[in-house]
Amino acid sequence: MKKVAIAIAIIAAIAAAVFAWLMNSTSGQDALFKRVVHAVMSRPPDTFDGLRVVICGSASPLGNVPDRAQACIAVVTPEHFFLFDVGARSPMRIAQANLPMGRLNGVFITHFHSDHIAALPDVNLASWVQGRGAPLAVFGAEGIDRVVDGFNLAYALDRGYRTAHHGADMLPPDRGPMQASTFQPGDIVWQDDNMRVTSFVVEHPPIEPAVGYRVDYRGRSVVISGDTNAADTLFAAAEGADLLFHDALSRTLLDPMIEVGTNLQLAVGPRIMRDVIDYHADVTTLPERSAEAGITQLVLYHMVPAPPNSLAERMFIRGLPEGVIVGADLQTFDLPPGSDEIVVHAP
Ligand SMILES: [Zn+2]
Ligand SMILES: [Zn+2]
Repeated sequence: MKKVAIAIAIIAAIAAAVFAWLMNSTSGQDALFKRVVHAVMSRPPDTFDGLRVVICGSASPLGNVPDRAQACIAVVTPEHFFLFDVGARSPMRIAQANLPMGRLNGVFITHFHSDHIAALPDVNLASWVQGRGAPLAVFGAEGIDRVVDGFNLAYALDRGYRTAHHGADMLPPDRGPMQASTFQPGDIVWQDDNMRVTSFVVEHPPIEPAVGYRVDYRGRSVVISGDTNAADTLFAAAEGADLLFHDALSRTLLDPMIEVGTNLQLAVGPRIMRDVIDYHADVTTLPERSAEAGITQLVLYHMVPAPPNSLAERMFIRGLPEGVIVGADLQTFDLPPGSDEIVVHAP
């Protein structure tokens, strides 16, 4: 027994010495770095034979939470890759999730608040560099052309520099500008043999139009709310869906924040926090509405305020039935076709 303990101690000491050499010598650092680079560069995108949904951003603008990017949901199948909203910091999550940017089919925008569109130029560039075969399609209701035209104009010089530097064979100029595609809320926005993306009106006054989306793929379905109160139109469109990602506002967190800010006589914070109450869904209303609509799994995202730690997360869902998921960046949901199963992967 004593001999075994001595052997383990010797092995641990040798491992510690090797690790110290790797970290502190230039040749050790070079060797270690090359191995890590090889592992990262040779890793193919993860694949899954079914409908995969990844949270690439779970925050709202309210709350300063470094662990959460702003609104973004990725939907990936063997044949498709779509993003639904691309808020600030979401490209970092998309890269961390190793999503297949070279085959990005398009971006669906729910409305034109900055926390849903800010990363469009970065997503456009990342997919262009990685070989996207056509201009990036950006779908939205009336107004999307203004958003896309504006970004295209602002980034025209950048695109020119990059093509001049890397060559038109790598960055074809005709695939650089994004292409806006306008639809009427309620339209089927995109469709092929296996997938259908349907839009529906939501309630986010005074923002009009504001829409959500339902994705159906080989018998499985996911609904993405964008920003809205608990809306009849959404629950009608979400009837029987497997997964609902819904924005959610917690008075349990917001009310004390308003009270403290008011007592401190802060000029801006309490007013903004009061204003947002009327255009996001109160989280306490969502589980019952979801159950009535026959939705299997409710996932909260675009949380107002974005909970910064587990204490705030517990308060966010206080009083809610078990099973409601507080979404986290990089949380992944796999829906195999021909089944009711929802496999949830932790971030
Ligand atoms: Zn928002
Ligand atoms: Zn909004």
